[in-house]
Amino acid sequence: MGAGVGQDSRADLHVHSNASDGTDSPAQVIRRAARAGLDAVALTDHDTVAGHPQARRALAGDLMLVPGLELSCQLQGRSVHLLAYLFDPDDDELAAELARIRDDRVLRARAMVDRLVELGVDVSWDQLAAIAGPAVIGRPHIARAMVASGAIAEPREAFTADWIADGGRAYVSRYALDPVRAIRLVRGAGGATVLAHPRAGREGEMPDEQIAGLAAVGLAGVEVFHPDHTDSERTRLRALAADLGLLASGGSDDHGGLTGNRIGCETAADGVCAALISMTSGARVMRAGDGCGKKGGESGPRGRNRSDERTD
Ligand SMILES: [Zn+2]
Ligand SMILES: [Zn+2]
Repeated sequence: MGAGVGQDSRADLHVHSNASDGTDSPAQVIRRAARAGLDAVALTDHDTVAGHPQARRALAGDLMLVPGLELSCQLQGRSVHLLAYLFDPDDDELAAELARIRDDRVLRARAMVDRLVELGVDVSWDQLAAIAGPAVIGRPHIARAMVASGAIAEPREAFTADWIADGGRAYVSRYALDPVRAIRLVRGAGGATVLAHPRAGREGEMPDEQIAGLAAVGLAGVEVFHPDHTDSERTRLRALAADLGLLASGGSDDHGGLTGNRIGCETAADGVCAALISMTSGARVMRAGDGCGKKGGESGPRGRNRSDERTD
């Protein structure tokens, strides 16, 4: 269906570009989303909206771009990821918090480089900074630096207890938001939040009670359809979402080559994309040809040239 917001649209609501730790540019992500036959795709880079302008310019045909991001949170010692959609990226409080998270990522990456050097790995901050470029820096960039140094053969080998897996010898934790605060921040900026992959964490699955707690403070949905969720986990999560009045969302969590170009392999339940649009006011979905002006008299953050805009 062409309009892409109806009950039967195919929406992959969780995709990364090289604005964070994906391998493809935002424009490449959009082209792959179109080839996959999606009606809608959400660009949800970690802690940044920097990829949205380039993604918007790459739109063609009926494909709809849902602006979003994936927020790093922590709840009782457990890493929790929240997908945020259709918020105002210029909201002061949210923007300040995102800047704080990104700044801490840099400090943390430097600390991990120091630890790797102590462990005899020939990496440097300058090398890492060159690999990451303008992207929000993360462990996949460190893994690539380790490959370049010859310490490991493939990036995935970095994610072990020997190196930079959670709790590994060179691992350094980082600042993360309380998810309750994050949900309120995003709502305050006119957006909506979806709990990402609650059954895929390295620390084991997130208890139902914690999900219920987040639902009680305004969580809009839960990611049911994710590549790391088994069939039985999907069944249970879908029932839980129904019980708690949460949207049953879904997405590929595609990171380009890092995850085998799987965009569109998972999509949200019917109607989820339309529901997210109807419950938000911070930003509009983006379509081909509407990037540089107002449509239907709306105003808002869309189309603005941000100082951190990345170019092709
Ligand atoms: Zn995640
Ligand atoms: Zn993700």
